[in-house]
Amino acid sequence: MKRTRFNFENTYTSLPAAFFHLDSPTEFPNPQLVIVNHELAKSMSLDFSTLPDDQQAALFCGNLVPEGSEPFSQAYAGHQFGNFTMLGDGRAHMMGEHVTPNDERFDIQFKGSGPTPYSRRGDGLAAIGPMLREYIISEAMHALGIATTRSLAVVTTGKMVIRERPLPGAVMTRVASSHIRVGTFEFAAATQKPELLSAILEYTIKRHFPELKNSEMKALSLLRSVMERQICLMVNWMRVGFIHGVMNTDNMALSGESIDYGPCAFMNSYNPDQVFSSIDQHGRYAYSNQPKLAHWNLARLAEALLPLIDEDADKAEELAKEVLNEFDDSYQKERLTMMRQKLGLLGELESKEESDEKLISDLLEWMHKHGADFTNTFRDLSAATTPTGQHYDNEEFTRWHTRYTARRLEHGQSMEASIKCMQAVNPSVIPRNYIVEQALEEAESGDLSLMHELLAALKSPYDSNEKNEKFQTAPHPSDKAYQTYCGT
Ligand code: AMP
Ligand code: MG
Repeated sequence: MKRTRFNFENTYTSLPAAFFHLDSPTEFPNPQLVIVNHELAKSMSLDFSTLPDDQQAALFCGNLVPEGSEPFSQAYAGHQFGNFTMLGDGRAHMMGEHVTPNDERFDIQFKGSGPTPYSRRGDGLAAIGPMLREYIISEAMHALGIATTRSLAVVTTGKMVIRERPLPGAVMTRVASSHIRVGTFEFAAATQKPELLSAILEYTIKRHFPELKNSEMKALSLLRSVMERQICLMVNWMRVGFIHGVMNTDNMALSGESIDYGPCAFMNSYNPDQVFSSIDQHGRYAYSNQPKLAHWNLARLAEALLPLIDEDADKAEELAKEVLNEFDDSYQKERLTMMRQKLGLLGELESKEESDEKLISDLLEWMHKHGADFTNTFRDLSAATTPTGQHYDNEEFTRWHTRYTARRLEHGQSMEASIKCMQAVNPSVIPRNYIVEQALEEAESGDLSLMHELLAALKSPYDSNEKNEKFQTAPHPSDKAYQTYCGT
C-alpha cells in the first residue's frame, strides 16, 4: 500500500542540541507545483498523485507541514576552497526521516525554504533555475548508476528572489540517505567538546556503517569505510565526465552520495583541466583534480576524528596517515578497472597493467589534442564498427585503433563480450550543458516540454535509442567557455 503521507521518524534530533536548530520553513504566498517525481515516491512506498495539485504544492514548499515532521536545520562547518568556516543549513529545512516498509531511511529536506539561524547574510531562498537544475542532474546521476541524493519535487513559491535580477523563488525536496557531511564532523571537532564528536560518530555508524558497531577502532574504521565509498564515487564521476565544481568538505557526504549540485557540469571535449564554475578561479576542482581533492577532504575528516582514533595524539596521527596513504593505490586500481571497462579490455589482466595504462593514456592524449567529445568518443568506440569521419580520420587515431583492436582480440576474448561491457558503462546520453540550459530557460518561461523530454531520455542513459539522438550531439563549437554559478 502506498501512503500519501511520509512515515517520519526523527533520530537526528536525538543528537546533542548543538547539531541542529529547530525551526520551520517560511510560509510562501502562492506555491505552484512544477514537478513531482512520482517514480521516486513509489520506490519509497509513497504516492502523492492522488492529492490535488494545490495540496502537493503546499506540501512540497512547507506551507502544509507534513504530519510527524519536526523541522530543523543542521549545523556543520567546512573547508571552502581550503578555508575553514562555520556553516550550517542556510536555506534548507530537514522535514524528517521517511522510513519505508523495508526499513530504508531517507532524509526529506527542503532546499530554498527560507532563512535559518545559519543563513548568515543569505536570504535562505532559491531560484527556480538552480532547483530544477539539481533535479535534472541528480536524477541523471541516479540513472547513470552513481550514488546520489535525489529530487522528489520542485515547486515555485510565489515569492521572487533577488539575484542579478528578480527570479521566481522555488523549493526543492531533496531525498538523501543522510545529510551527514565531512563538515558535520569538522563542526563537532571545532566545538572541542569530545561528547559531540563521540555522539556523531556513534550516530553515523548506526545509520550508515552498522557493520562497524563492534569494531575496536571505530573512528579509524569509519575513516576507511568512508574513504572506500569516496573512491568508488570519484571513479564513477571520472567515468562519465562529471565535474562537481565545489567539492568543499561541507559538500561531501559520509554516505558516499554525490550531494549539493551547485555549479556542477558535464565535460564535453576531453580536457583534464576542465573547470566550469565561475568561482573556481584556480581550477582547484578541475575534472582531473577531483580524486586528489576527495583525498584532501578525507584528511580533514581524519583530523576531526583524531581524538577518537587514539588518546595519544602522535599515535592517532600515525594511524590516520596509514589509512589515508592507502587512497592512491586503491583509487588507481579502481580507476584502471573502470577505464578497462570503458574500453572493453577483458581477458587476462594482471600482466597487462602497464600496456593497458599506456593504451588508455595514449587515447586520452589524442582526445585532448583533438578536442574529442568524452562521451561520444567512448560511445563510438563501443560500436561494432571502427569509428570514422571527423577527427577519427587521421593516422594517429588509426595507429592507436590498430593496437587497441589487437589488444581486444588477445586471449580469444569475444568482441561481443567486449562491446557489451563497454555499452554498460559508456553512456550515450548525459545532461549536456547547453541542452540543460535550454530546458531551464524554457521551463522558467512556463514551457516544461523540453525538460520532460530530457528527463525521459536521461532515464536510460546506456540505451542507444534513436529518439534520444538530439540529446547526444556535442555542442558546436565546444563549450569550453561555459560557466556555471553557485546558484545561491
Ligand atoms: P553551497 O556552496 O551551496 O554548498 O553553500 C554553502 C553554504 O552557504 C551552506 O551553508 C548554505 O546553506 C549557505 N547558503 C547558500 N545559499 C544561501 C542562501 N541563499 N541563503 C542562506 N544561506 C545560503
Ligand atoms: Mg553545500
